[in-house]
Amino acid sequence: MKPGVKSGGGLLRANLNEIMESIQGEGLLVGSRNIFLRFSGCNLRCSYCDTPSSLDRADLCRFNPVCGGYSEWQQIANPLSVNEVMQLISGFGSRWISLTGGEPLLWADFIASLGAHLRPHGYRFLLETNGTLYEELTRCIEYIDLISMDYKLPSATGEDCSRAHDEFLKQAQDRALYVKIVVDSSTEIGEIRRALEIVARRGRDTTLFLQPISPCGEIKSPPIRAMLDLQRYCLGMLDDVRILPQLHRLLQII
Ligand code: SF4
Repeated sequence: MKPGVKSGGGLLRANLNEIMESIQGEGLLVGSRNIFLRFSGCNLRCSYCDTPSSLDRADLCRFNPVCGGYSEWQQIANPLSVNEVMQLISGFGSRWISLTGGEPLLWADFIASLGAHLRPHGYRFLLETNGTLYEELTRCIEYIDLISMDYKLPSATGEDCSRAHDEFLKQAQDRALYVKIVVDSSTEIGEIRRALEIVARRGRDTTLFLQPISPCGEIKSPPIRAMLDLQRYCLGMLDDVRILPQLHRLLQII
């Protein structure tokens, strides 16, 4: 039995919100084809959350068998077992699995079991996380190939997550990881400076994505001039700072 996986791990269950295949819209894998496992539940409540339906546990998980969601959505009763998830994704061609949410680390043991079953078959795991649940990370980190860690600013969450982010980055020190910060009109330079201090402890070469918030209703993206100024500021403390809007929103694909 692999470490971190409970006996009968294939029988573990989790509440998922969505299972589908599409292109990755953010981060280092942008543009690549991914299988998305969107887990239910989150320990934070960000002001700009674009997946509000995944914040609470869903009774049903929606599943689309065609890449890009170009088929009838099917509704599947939660919770799903590891074996059921493996069966559902077996028809997809992608080998990268994006663990997203909500906050996927609320289901760390399930993720460890999924990793133990699927990595031997060539699947690779991208963990898209809010970067606060560092103890849960230790339970599944050996199965994660790349971590996309959101750094949550106080202006977005209403709370200071800096200590949790610092611990999270220490736990993930020897893993491939990049950091993403969503920037909106309420972002303040003081909270960016604090974020940079913590991220830079991992090393100046840690890649940082500045993601202008996606326009939606009343919400507007910050002007590109402001993003360029912010990028220049961040380059004073990190060597690789990129501006990247959400590609799937630009392409109007799910
Ligand atoms: S961490 Fe992600 S899923 Fe949770 S509230 Fe924030 S944006 Fe939404």
